[in-house]
Order: sequence, then C-alpha cells, then structure tokens
Amino acid sequence: MMSVGGVALGAASYATWLRDASADPISYVPYLFLVGAALVFAYIVFGQAATGVVVVSDFGVSTSDGGPRIPWHDIQAVCLDEHGLSINTSGDDLRVQSASHSTAIRHLLKQAERRLGKRVDVADEDVAALAPWDGAVVTVSPAEPPQVTGMKCRASGRLLSVEQDVRMCGRCGVFYHHQTVPKRCKACRKKLWSS
Ligand SMILES: [Zn+2]
Repeated sequence: MMSVGGVALGAASYATWLRDASADPISYVPYLFLVGAALVFAYIVFGQAATGVVVVSDFGVSTSDGGPRIPWHDIQAVCLDEHGLSINTSGDDLRVQSASHSTAIRHLLKQAERRLGKRVDVADEDVAALAPWDGAVVTVSPAEPPQVTGMKCRASGRLLSVEQDVRMCGRCGVFYHHQTVPKRCKACRKKLWSS
C-alpha cells in the first residue's frame, strides 16, 4: 500500500514539475496525486495495526498476519486508548486498532479480564466509546495446539517432548507435564486439581 502510494505520488510529481514544460499536460495527473495520497494516508492510519483476523484462544492471542503469538501468562498489561488496544509483554507487543477491530477488541477484553484480572487496565467509558460493531464476524473454531517441543513443565522443569504428556492451565496457558501438574497453577494460581 505504502509503495504503490509512493510510486503514484512520485509519478504525479514528475509529471507536474519535472517534465518538459512545452509538452501537453497529462489529464490524469490530479487523480494520481489523489490516489497516491489516499494510499499513503491509509497506510499511516491502518498500516501499523494488527490486520487480518485476531485469534483469541485458551493458549493466548495472535493475529492471522504473522504477528507475535502471545500466551496469556506472558501478558504484563492490557491497555485501551482512543486508537486501540495494546497488549504488552516482555518481548513483542501487540497493537490492535479500534478503527478496524472494535469487535475483536471487545471479545478479547472479556477473555483478558477473566484470565488476567488486574493486568487489564481498561476504563468502562473507553470500552463504551468503541464502535458497537465493525462488521466482523466472530467465529469459533478449534485452536491449533502450539508446538511444545523443547518446552519445559513450569512446575518440575521436565522436558515436554510429546503432546500426550502436556497439560495446560486453561486460564493462563502455562504448560505442565501430566505427571507433575501442581495443585494450583504456578503462574495464575488457578486450582488445577483437588485431592
Ligand atoms: Zn494458570
């Protein structure tokens, strides 16, 4: 979007100022300017947002456009401002723009509040200010299990090599070896089993 817009603006500038002045004017130059400026503007407004589909599951949050896949337990803070939602982690952060993803943000916030408690710092009036519906359809589909190879049980440090050994905290997405699941989740304190 940015490059096509840039090329259009460049071509329009060339045709207007750098071409031989004695040549006939080109009629579509104003349109080139308009299209170029619109594309660059659209890129600036929407380009840096998480585009595509926002995926919310028991594992965490990700987007379909190749952004970071963030497990719930890695999230340090969730904040909403007039531009969108920020999900802050110790590594890559995720931004979801409210202009294009208000439905996803509402859905994500419900899940985040249930799983993260006080780490979600969002005022009710900011949620109320979100567009009621942005045309997006919320679909429910089975989540793809994450690659566990090389991961370790949060409680015992045992290597998780096969999927059958893995148990996951359904609230925060931390992994445990099925033989060393603690009574309460080490990350979020959710009760995992009772004796
Ligand atoms: Zn947990």
